[in-house]
Amino acid sequence: MEIAELRSCKLIVGSGLTAGLAANLLCDVHELSLSFLPFAKFSSMPEILPRRAFFDALELSRAEEAAVISKVSTSAREVVWNDGNVSAQRSLESTDDFFIYDKGLLASWLLDRAIQRGVHAIKSHAQSSTIQEECKNFDAVLDCRGAGAVAKDPGYTIRQETLSSTYCTYAIIKRPKSMSNDHLVFWSVLNEYGLQRTFFAMPCGTELTSVGGSYCEGDQLDITALLDMMCSLGYPLTPSDVKLTANVAPHRFSCSHSHPKIIPLGDAARSTCPLTEYGVMSALSQLLQLRGDNGLLPSVIRRPASSQIDPHIPVELFL
Ligand SMILES: Cc1cc2nc3c(=O)[nH]c(=O)nc-3n(C[C@H](O)[C@H](O)[C@H](O)COP(=O)(O)OP(=O)(O)OC[C@H]3O[C@@H](n4cnc5c(N)ncnc54)[C@H](O)[C@@H]3O)c2cc1C
Repeated sequence: MEIAELRSCKLIVGSGLTAGLAANLLCDVHELSLSFLPFAKFSSMPEILPRRAFFDALELSRAEEAAVISKVSTSAREVVWNDGNVSAQRSLESTDDFFIYDKGLLASWLLDRAIQRGVHAIKSHAQSSTIQEECKNFDAVLDCRGAGAVAKDPGYTIRQETLSSTYCTYAIIKRPKSMSNDHLVFWSVLNEYGLQRTFFAMPCGTELTSVGGSYCEGDQLDITALLDMMCSLGYPLTPSDVKLTANVAPHRFSCSHSHPKIIPLGDAARSTCPLTEYGVMSALSQLLQLRGDNGLLPSVIRRPASSQIDPHIPVELFL
């Protein structure tokens, strides 16, 4: 079916968790089409959510909840956190309190479930920078394309809310044999000026690992310093092991579109700070409100208070 024939429907555009959640939460109240990229790529880093609040909002049966938890579990089995002289290890299996998942697997499970429930899925191949054209054919366009796509869309106004509270320099490397392929490892240390830094090694895929360091405002870490640190931790790496390097600083910002029919949702609406908030719970809360229900309590959107500067550590498991 062509998109043009689907007048009086709402169109969801996106391929991640917000798009999947929107399709599942809104399909009983709206006629929905979902335009997604079949080959969208996701980080394989495990993510974590407060289990009850998430599944209660999604209204899954307990049997369906158990099935999805086992289907979307991460390939990483354990997390080890070396905090100064103290080392602790935790399983990365979901617990009664926390749901730990692989983002790509959960997105594809949500998409399949939405299709089974009658959502019309449209495979999209073009990552065009604007979606305004779609407004001609639909009552509303729910934009779930994430922060990166929205930043490139000239129809958006983006307001930065706060400076970043965490910075990260990382490299994707060919994994040396000495490095685990199913453990995430973190090392929290102080630099020579007493500033906290957290280094990590997180397997990503069969042959690669992401090594990096998180640090705070006023500090800096370049790739040479990162590789030196990995060497002093027992992993000598050469520049030829490095496939890609990057620096990131997650800012909190909010976005609005000039076209009244375009409703940004999830990271497309408001990029959250992964240190302090569960981005997925924030998207879920927004979707419940769009459906006419109450949003979630701030206590289930906020991550537990912690003095850590690395958003990748599932600190919840160590409290
Ligand atoms: C380091 C880090 C750790 C995090 N940890 C957690 C955590 O533990 N728990 C938690 O709740 N949240 C966490 N988050 C946040 C969480 O990942 C996001 O808030 C959440 O996944 C919602 O994403 P989204 O679907 O809105 O956007 P995205 O994940 O960006 O998904 C948007 C998707 O849409 C696709 N797309 C773009 N253009 C188009 C198009 N034209 N058509 C179709 N598709 C398109 C993109 O390719 C992408 O796949 C973390 C974030 C970071 C950075």
